Amino acid sequence: PVAIEAIGLTKDYGEGDSVVHALRGVDVCFEQGKFTAIMGPSGSGKSTLMHTLAGLDSATGGHILLQGEDLTAMNDRQLTLLRRKRIGFIFQSFNLLPMFTAEQNILMPLTLAGAKPDRVWMRTLVRTLGLEQRLDHRPNELSGGQQQRVAIARALITRPSVVFADEPTGNLDSVSSAEVLDFLKRSVRELGQTIIMVTHDAVAASYADRAIVFADGRIVADEPEPTAERMN
Ligand code: ADP
Ligand code: ADP
Repeated sequence: PVAIEAIGLTKDYGEGDSVVHALRGVDVCFEQGKFTAIMGPSGSGKSTLMHTLAGLDSATGGHILLQGEDLTAMNDRQLTLLRRKRIGFIFQSFNLLPMFTAEQNILMPLTLAGAKPDRVWMRTLVRTLGLEQRLDHRPNELSGGQQQRVAIARALITRPSVVFADEPTGNLDSVSSAEVLDFLKRSVRELGQTIIMVTHDAVAASYADRAIVFADGRIVADEPEPTAERMN
């Protein structure tokens, strides 16, 4: 089944002489339970694609279907609700709250929504991400890789339809990067989550099930079995 799909997606910034065509008609389909990397040079439209797919930014034209529901037909309030429940975000800078423990950070999306924590799912996430011994630690007591694993658990706690990861290893050394990518991959394999990751790094992309390459607002390559060599 399809998790999220873009049909003829366009996005312009500005207008008239100064218009920038950030997306020039993108057709792409992301299967449920797959890990996809989006690569491409700076300014090619990767962030714009991620932000429009996630409903953070409105499209100029085309459609976005999240499990069949058209985001481009929704108002801001509907989009905010949909993001909270059905979309997860992982950032380059982790974005954990420093005053709270790992466990409190992981549960934060549910706390903010006033929803009851699902303890079974929480335990499954903590086990899958190897965080059993770290739940009572605050972010400054954790390594970068551990902080990012907490951020992954936080992104998955609502069982989102899609998780967007924006350069998730951009602030990590190569050892922590490999660890985080292994855990991301496990979250896809073992928990059936759908993850879309923007990255500059060919090695990071090689962990994905599929890599899409962007150039000038268009998809120029779609690689079903990315390897670091092929993606370089
Ligand atoms: P990438 O993520 O691949 O670096 P972006 O999606 O950020 O690319 O940018 C695609 C194009 O859109 C670039 O030409 C960029 O300068 C332009 N762009 C991005 N955001 C804005 C904005 N808020 N206003 C104007 N132009 C923008
Ligand atoms: P609200 O705060 O009303 O719930 P937001 O649009 O501010 O709605 O945020 C919804 C989700 O999108 C949050 O998980 C937030 O962390 C994430 N988010 C907000 N801005 C960005 C951004 N520029 N890039 C990626 N994710 C973002």
